[in-house]
Amino acid sequence: MPPIVRGKSFDSASVLAHPAVCAEKPDLKGFLPDELREFLARFGKEKYRTNQLLRWIHGKGVADFDQMTDLGKEFRSQLKAEARVEYLAERHRAVSRDGQTTKLVLGLSDGRKIETVMMVDDGRRTVCVSSQAGCALGCRFCATGQIGFQRNLTAGEILDQIHHGARFFRARGASGEEFEHPVTNVVFMGMGEPLNNYEAVLRAVKLSGLEMGLAVSATRVTISTAGVVPMIYRLASDLPKVGLAISLNATTDEVRNSLMPINRKYPLKTLLDAARHMAGVSLRRRVTFEYALIEGTNDSDEDARRLVELVSGFPCKINLIPFNPVPRQPFRRPGQERIDHFHRILWERNLTVTVRWSKGDDIAAACGQLQASVPS
Ligand code: SF4
Repeated sequence: MPPIVRGKSFDSASVLAHPAVCAEKPDLKGFLPDELREFLARFGKEKYRTNQLLRWIHGKGVADFDQMTDLGKEFRSQLKAEARVEYLAERHRAVSRDGQTTKLVLGLSDGRKIETVMMVDDGRRTVCVSSQAGCALGCRFCATGQIGFQRNLTAGEILDQIHHGARFFRARGASGEEFEHPVTNVVFMGMGEPLNNYEAVLRAVKLSGLEMGLAVSATRVTISTAGVVPMIYRLASDLPKVGLAISLNATTDEVRNSLMPINRKYPLKTLLDAARHMAGVSLRRRVTFEYALIEGTNDSDEDARRLVELVSGFPCKINLIPFNPVPRQPFRRPGQERIDHFHRILWERNLTVTVRWSKGDDIAAACGQLQASVPS
């Protein structure tokens, strides 16, 4: 680890990822335990102090040093002078009609905004996190893509979204159940392309798995990508326990090029080779393909048959997602009959396929709808 000099220490791009944050004190929320231990050694603090601090930050989700009452006044003052703990302010909250999906708009320290979505389903309490403010990949069916890229989130900013989810689920549980682990699943399907902010995402996954913290095992984390092929190979080697979801959405390069510009760089064949590799090394043993069904674009019988061919021979699951409307886009959702027919073709070929009716589309919290807007 590099020597600690404020603003330059902890040179991981994921801890100090953009100029506004670099000018600030280091964010302890994004430190791995060894790094925190080393940081505290500056103050001549014993090892057990690291665990105390980890418990406050990751176990209790506390960001204010003054609330860390067992740390001693002088130590807390030192920490306040030298460090900070990331906390994103809630700017807006929307709850879906069925009460199962809640969307938070959270403010970053530089004034930008991101969205985080919490979903309750069948005993699962899932947080869908953003990895970037905006996104550079410009998929044509996606509201986030229309914003353009603003910046990468730091590991602390990603992690704090999961803490918001934990607080939210704990508060829900207060009226009934008590949750030992308030968050059961984390999906990187919010704003941004997670594999284009790889180091921060990797760090956030490691930190959310801390037993004395949120204890979300990597096996309960899913990372969704538009197809950043080289990083899929890295992910397979660094985090073989996480689930990989690939946003596929087309069965020919021509259509995929028109929907997802990244396909020009990493066409279908190279993407599927990477998916096959991940399925081979993944402890989950299979990859999920997300396929947004768009009327007249990718929903024909030929598309269904090509999809069967494309994924034949390796373990996978296909999620068909009837397209969720996005402002200023010409795309439409196919009718129910077409969706059912497309589904049947895959199902009859023995593929594992589900139709995923997005939750929270009435509050613009569904796939492809996130744009971090606060109603005026
Ligand atoms: Fe970015 Fe994902 Fe939207 Fe594509 S679908 S623009 S990768 S956020």
